[in-house]
Amino acid sequence: MTSVSGLSGERFEVVVVGGGLAGLATAASLCSQGCHSILVLESETVPGAHSSGKNAGLVRQAAEDPQTTGLCVRGADLIRRRHQQCPDLFRHSGSLIISDENHVPDSSWAQVEHRCLSEDEVRQHYPELQSWPGGQAYWTPTDGIIDVPKLLGSLMEELVSGGGNVAFGATAGRVKIMESGGFQIEVRDGSSRNRIIGEVLCGQVVIANGAWAAKFSEASEMPISLNVTNRGCLITDSGGFGNQARPWIWSDLAGWYLRQMSGSLLWSACEEEEAAAGVLNLSTDLEDYWREKVKSSWDPSGQFLKCLSSWVGQRTFCPDRKFLLGSDSRCDGWHWAVGLGGHGVTCALAVGERVADGVLGENSSADWAWSEDRFVSSSKSLS
Ligand SMILES: Cc1cc2nc3c(=O)[nH]c(=O)nc-3n(C[C@H](O)[C@H](O)[C@H](O)COP(=O)(O)OP(=O)(O)OC[C@H]3O[C@@H](n4cnc5c(N)ncnc54)[C@H](O)[C@@H]3O)c2cc1C
Repeated sequence: MTSVSGLSGERFEVVVVGGGLAGLATAASLCSQGCHSILVLESETVPGAHSSGKNAGLVRQAAEDPQTTGLCVRGADLIRRRHQQCPDLFRHSGSLIISDENHVPDSSWAQVEHRCLSEDEVRQHYPELQSWPGGQAYWTPTDGIIDVPKLLGSLMEELVSGGGNVAFGATAGRVKIMESGGFQIEVRDGSSRNRIIGEVLCGQVVIANGAWAAKFSEASEMPISLNVTNRGCLITDSGGFGNQARPWIWSDLAGWYLRQMSGSLLWSACEEEEAAAGVLNLSTDLEDYWREKVKSSWDPSGQFLKCLSSWVGQRTFCPDRKFLLGSDSRCDGWHWAVGLGGHGVTCALAVGERVADGVLGENSSADWAWSEDRFVSSSKSLS
């Protein structure tokens, strides 16, 4: 760990802005490929304090477009491999997704090992789905549940043992693009963001600061447009659910999902409300909204589950809802790892791998890169 007060005039090959899953996975991947002069700047005092610590921990490979699905499949594979060195990182629960081609196209399913289930088979897993009207259901045996704090811990360990540096409580301010090449980054006090602590110099910069990326980059004259939306999660008691391990279940059609925790259940009613970065509230009561949503498919006794706790987290999307990864043609040495939407846990390791490749000079993220078509035209057509 690097002391914040020691950050003045130091030079690094790479500075990563943001210590969530995207930033830490990129930094750890760089370290493992022999690049050790790295500094991660993180505003908070712990890793993953925002979206990366406020999610459901589902590893879901089938996504809304085939390109994202490809990255989810790679990400899930890397998680399962890491699990071999990091016990209990991943639970092979499998998943049950109730969906149709409007949510997940055939070109996505073609990349994911799966089997279609009959309505009877679905109810064998979930007898509570009494009022479910039926429809397409997909069983994905290689999906599962990840212990996110463990993943963050394992990335931190890889980074620090590989010689990389992380400064907590250190907010990156304006990034000055130097005429001679490289960047000068102002570092501010993490909590107040008002006090300038110092500055760091680097040859390349990776922007991985989630919901804050659009505002941050605009101040550095590298504008992008991102939409930030709020979504809630809710923990209930397990009612009559029993201890038998079940796959997590997601109804794309009704808009809710559920996974088992130890002795409780984690639900989301899939809210998607626009918000400003860091502003965590919803216009509806989270519990009422969830009860209303699950009513359409769940056993009425689900209505009596007791809500134990809840939280709201932020998902950040590019206008076309695809990630923004890799180098930016507008500025040499400027890289993105943002817009991970609702797939950032599943894809974290694959994102880290790709963005690190770009920093090391390989152009493996061309399909995910910034382009006028993706950002300038789409934001004009939205306005
Ligand atoms: C309710 C909910 C449920 C979800 N469930 C799942 C799921 O089941 N499976 C899945 O795959 N995905 C899920 N996601 C999505 C996933 O959580 C995100 O895609 C992922 O965490 C994004 O990671 P990130 O590193 O980009 O952002 P963050 O984790 O938000 O990290 C950005 C970091 O940058 C820091 N920062 C900001 N500005 C600065 C600055 N100027 N200087 C220094 N640091 C800065 C912040 O403090 C923050 O720590 C869910 C999201 C939500 C909200």
